[in-house]
Amino acid sequence: MATGKINVSVENIFPLIKKFLYSDHEIFLRELISNATDATLKLKHLTAIGEAKVEYGNPRIEVKVDKEAKQIRIIDQGIGMTEEEVKKYINEVAFSGAEEFLDKYKDAGKDAGIIGHFGLGFYSAFMVADKVEIITKSFKDEAAVHWSCDGSPEFELKEATKTDRGTEIVLHVAEDSTEFLEEGRIRELLTKYNKFMPIPIKFGTKTETLPKPEGAKEEDPAPTQEVDDIINNPNPAWTKKPTDLTQEDYAGFYRELYPMQFEEPLFNIHLNVDYPFNLTGILYFPKLTNDLNVQKDRIQLYQNQVFVTDNVEGIVPEFLTMLRGVIDSPDIPLNVSRSYLQADGAVKKISSYITKKVADKLNSLFKDNREDFEQKWNDIKVVIEYGMLSEDKFFDKAEKFALYPTIDGDYYTFDELVEKIKDSQTDKDNKTVVLYASDKEAQHSYIEAAKAKEYTVLLLDSPIVPHLIQKLETAKENITFARVDADHVDNLIKKEDTSISKMTDEEKDKVKEEIEKVVGEKGYTIQMEAMDSSAQPFIITEPEFMRRMKEMQQTGGGMFGMGNMPDMFNLVVNTNHELVNDILNTKTAKKRERLINQSLDLARLSKGLLKGEALTNFINRSYDMIK
Ligand code: ADP
Repeated sequence: MATGKINVSVENIFPLIKKFLYSDHEIFLRELISNATDATLKLKHLTAIGEAKVEYGNPRIEVKVDKEAKQIRIIDQGIGMTEEEVKKYINEVAFSGAEEFLDKYKDAGKDAGIIGHFGLGFYSAFMVADKVEIITKSFKDEAAVHWSCDGSPEFELKEATKTDRGTEIVLHVAEDSTEFLEEGRIRELLTKYNKFMPIPIKFGTKTETLPKPEGAKEEDPAPTQEVDDIINNPNPAWTKKPTDLTQEDYAGFYRELYPMQFEEPLFNIHLNVDYPFNLTGILYFPKLTNDLNVQKDRIQLYQNQVFVTDNVEGIVPEFLTMLRGVIDSPDIPLNVSRSYLQADGAVKKISSYITKKVADKLNSLFKDNREDFEQKWNDIKVVIEYGMLSEDKFFDKAEKFALYPTIDGDYYTFDELVEKIKDSQTDKDNKTVVLYASDKEAQHSYIEAAKAKEYTVLLLDSPIVPHLIQKLETAKENITFARVDADHVDNLIKKEDTSISKMTDEEKDKVKEEIEKVVGEKGYTIQMEAMDSSAQPFIITEPEFMRRMKEMQQTGGGMFGMGNMPDMFNLVVNTNHELVNDILNTKTAKKRERLINQSLDLARLSKGLLKGEALTNFINRSYDMIK
């Protein structure tokens, strides 16, 4: 037996390890299983190249919990270590690695972010154990060794009796970490971190139901047997070639990733690149609603099949964090803070690669089956619109597949739309006017009015639309957007004036004056217009610009940093409408006032502006009229 002292510069590093990243103690298991996996894969490699003359077989890793004895064991069938190797790798290499790590990050605790996901390696065992043993036998023909350390820098090394190849790590769980002696807790950790690791991991046994033997009676219970409970899938879909996978495989893997998701994803994107960085993965487009709140099932980041985090902020472009799936890359530096990550060149490349792949996929879906793509549009538009807004490269690519649906369910690309409306929807500056509605119900009468004039009206109802419109107007020449209830559409669009005014200019002035008398102090700008006699007599509109600024403030645009913007409304009076003619010709002032007030309230009702006391008064007045 030999004893010795680990080469320590800090007198006692173990209390430090224990204190480090308190909330991340659970990563000890991931670290030890990663080591066991590495040791197994190393053996696989050595046998493959003929350097290890042993049978590789079907090795696996076993995790055992003994609550009574307060022990956790991690047993592998990998290369093992000789005495020399234990001295070198455990006493020196592993230790100095852990020491270096702590040195670097002990002050960075607050900037944890992703640092917390970076492991301490073997010595993270001391985050939960007050004594750790290693019993290991190398694949080389040498005696097994037994190393133990009780959390002080002293260790003990002696010969062991172990005969089979591999390493067994025994953790004597500390009093403050007994939660890890619960089977449920360990199972939770294994499913979180090791679900897709490449070597099978056994944790206890489970009961499996077998088929009933022939001739068994209805009431006979089916026979069962105890089998090893393998908790991981060592060959997850993303590690396979896309050509070897069917749609059902992709759907099956989605269910494996998110067992609580019952809705099928819309489509998937298989990522696979090995230059200038390594990255594999599968991204899924789930059905999305307009609700931009962060969802629970997020993209998971793996490093060589070891789960790292489901917070991929900084690695995946923000607009794609609404997707689901996995990405796996050994090239993402995890031992750095997020702000560093965002500035890292390699990470930037990964992010733009993902953006490009997603755009290419969307483009091919659009080209291959436009009808299907149109049907999915509503469920994917939030991601695409958000991407167009936030990533210029994506904006350019989306040109080809971004769709603009009309109120009647036709879908146009932007170019197709402009082609359709460029002659019929122009304004006085000769700009093409894209008319849109954001709410089919609330803007119903305005939509109807625009449709009556055979204008094409889009339905753009995502919350980020005001921002996107702003961007489109800047990016496209000679295009302007107007919502159907904006500064009256008739004003904006230069159409051949087919309506002839039924009123003389003096008459118009007179009606305007009368209306001003009644509604003057309510803050409307009154506009007299000779419209079609079938158009409503009073119409309230809002300047497009003001409304959009207000909307952008609400959705976080806040570009001018101003407080509440004032409401500005126009009251458009259709001088060709019979009712307006009645206002002109009414004898008594009282009746005229009633006509004006009632018409104004109807216009406000139509615009959704009539509320509270004004609405109650309007309703009571209307009942009085009909009784
Ligand atoms: P890292 O894995 O990053 O090298 P660790 O501290 O986890 O650092 O481990 C240090 C070294 O100890 C490993 O590189 C390996 O040589 C050895 N080692 C650890 N665990 C095992 C194991 N289960 N089987 C064989 N060797 C191991």
